[in-house]
Amino acid sequence: MTCLKALLHTACWSITLFLAVPLSAEDRCTEGPAGPHDRDYLALCRPRPVTAHEREAFVRSLPAGGAVATLTFKQRAKIDGLAAVLRFHEREAVYDIRFIDIPEAWMGLHGRAVLLISVPALDMLGAKELQALVAHEIGHDYLMTVWEGARASGDAARLRWVEAACDAIAALTLSALGLSTEALASAIAKVERYNRGRFGVPQNASSYPSATERSRLLAKFRSDKR
Ligand SMILES: [Zn+2]
Repeated sequence: MTCLKALLHTACWSITLFLAVPLSAEDRCTEGPAGPHDRDYLALCRPRPVTAHEREAFVRSLPAGGAVATLTFKQRAKIDGLAAVLRFHEREAVYDIRFIDIPEAWMGLHGRAVLLISVPALDMLGAKELQALVAHEIGHDYLMTVWEGARASGDAARLRWVEAACDAIAALTLSALGLSTEALASAIAKVERYNRGRFGVPQNASSYPSATERSRLLAKFRSDKR
């Protein structure tokens, strides 16, 4: 299905919903949410969590050093809200959350097992923005196989599609929890502004939709909210 690949062709989702082209269960999940009302996707396509053994292997594969062991009271207060998102996706007891001391504002999911949050991201973003970015990272848990395939083949368009699909999964998650998707748009914009202001345009910029495109996609979720 080309809807999320096309990213912001806003009429596409509604056409998809009406055409109702049958998909296999696997295709249904690897094609991402069908649109702003496809909340069923979250439960139907939620992947099997990694086992404790697998998680340990991913933790061991992390580079030595750079981990921040102690958070300030203010930093810790900001991450309290992450539990609600993790619990919703049955990941509270699955992900190992690690804070890392790197210059960039960044959050990432390592091996569907370790949620990495940089100190600048933790300090710069508000609690709701961090919560929203975690919902995006959980989107990567759903689409890790697609992302790995796109990365291996250097398919920047497919990587952009994955980012947009993860935003869609995040928006559905936030909406299901009664939270605003605006926090995700503002987190994405702040991170882009922070990193580009200090480090310039990243080499992998073509693998990401722009913050403006992503904001436009997220607005679609708000305007179509029932
Ligand atoms: Zn992402």
